[in-house]
Amino acid sequence: MALRLFNTYSREVEEFEPRDPSARPIKIYTCGPTVYSRAHIGNFRAYIFEDLLQRHLELRGYKVHRVMNITDVEDKTIRGAREAGVRLQKFTEQFKVAFFEDAHTLRIKRADEYPAATDQRYIDRMIEMISVLISKGLAYQADDKSVYFRINKFPNYGKLAHFDLTQLQSTGRVKHDEYDKEHIGDFALWKAWDEADGDVKWDSPWGPGRPGWHIECSAMSMALLGDQIDVHCGGVDNIFPHHEAEIAQSEGVTGKKFVRYWLHCAHLLVDGQKMAKSLGNFYTVPDVLAKGYTGRELRYALLRVHYRVPLNFTWEGMNEARESLARIDEWLARLRELTEKPNAERPTANGQSPVIEPAFEDALDDDLNISAALGFLFESIRETNRAMDQNEMDAPSARAWLDWWKRINTVLDLEAEAEIVIPPEVTQLADERENARREKNWNRSDELRERIFALGWEVRDTKEGSKLTRRSGST
Ligand code: AMP
Ligand code: ZN
Repeated sequence: MALRLFNTYSREVEEFEPRDPSARPIKIYTCGPTVYSRAHIGNFRAYIFEDLLQRHLELRGYKVHRVMNITDVEDKTIRGAREAGVRLQKFTEQFKVAFFEDAHTLRIKRADEYPAATDQRYIDRMIEMISVLISKGLAYQADDKSVYFRINKFPNYGKLAHFDLTQLQSTGRVKHDEYDKEHIGDFALWKAWDEADGDVKWDSPWGPGRPGWHIECSAMSMALLGDQIDVHCGGVDNIFPHHEAEIAQSEGVTGKKFVRYWLHCAHLLVDGQKMAKSLGNFYTVPDVLAKGYTGRELRYALLRVHYRVPLNFTWEGMNEARESLARIDEWLARLRELTEKPNAERPTANGQSPVIEPAFEDALDDDLNISAALGFLFESIRETNRAMDQNEMDAPSARAWLDWWKRINTVLDLEAEAEIVIPPEVTQLADERENARREKNWNRSDELRERIFALGWEVRDTKEGSKLTRRSGST
């Protein structure tokens, strides 16, 4: 069955046809975090949905090239740095680190690239794009020295959000004193420097200033993925004005269709309201871990509902996630036990390995219907458990189910982590190395590091002392 995805642009479920069906990778751009504070788990619902999309495409044999930007300059980051009395870069750095930590905890696959908006390469690209838009009459510099996009000159403006231009009103991301604009819906491409910006400024043909939020994504997408991409994702709150503006800017510059499929996930809610920083009703990943839950449990809780259905976050939901994972764990343990029995090769039933229907993949082909896919998983668990209870499952069948699990787990990534046991000799070498470091005997310390490495382990020196991890590639 072909993969079908709901395209916000057409408001229809469409068959997925990549731009370039030959070997080239699927190009995906995902709007990343604005690093003015730690991302909340609502943000991570969006990132987990994008992770599911990427993993399912890969399961279906596509190669994916995904870019996720880091918004490290806009109104909130500047205000945050000012209030904290530190430079912008120092202020945003801590939240970038936290973002990667949380994404790792939630087992989100890393994107291929994480461009940051303040990188001079991309600032240059933004300036270049704005110049083209001005030359085409699609943008203008107003009396306040800022440059705005002229939405009346872009006939498709509003197509993504299915919006009537005459209804446009000022939005939260637009400064209230922008009285110099021709139209209330014109959005800033370049914001002229003012005192509140402090040392956050770049030179441009329009004077010192900084980019608007929307042009950042257009420029980084174009710089890393080219003029046209396959899929662009975000939460539904990104549809307008952010993604609408991205279309206007990118297509305004190139004259080509920017994105083939626009995918947006519904919000994570708390008591029926969007989880949001501004409402103060949010939890971060560490908040959830502090309550005794694991990253795996939170991943499951955020993943289990179809991405276009709003999901209410509750602690009861977290407990359900825990129970569901326990069922998977027990099932896997039973299957493994069966394959390890001494008479494991002797078939007990009809001697045939089960033919497992492709219902899991088929459900995901249906606009990433994860609830149906998980429904099939739990139905299979129920049936195979019953077969095992009645002694009707043989080892080859158990093995076939384990192979099936291995395959679907490349999408789910929900397996319990095997307990890591550090061999005593490695611990001893690590202790010796700590002593050597305390005595500032760096040669000895390096030598011990090498010996630890040779045994398949790596030492990392952190603020809390040295930590041992399995060396990648070692078994
Ligand atoms: P921001 O850091 O505000 O730019 O948001 C980063 C991503 O999280 C965007 O794709 C948003 O659409 C998404 N997002 C924000 N709040 C929520 C929420 N409560 N539920 C799901 N996604 C969200
Ligand atoms: Zn964006």
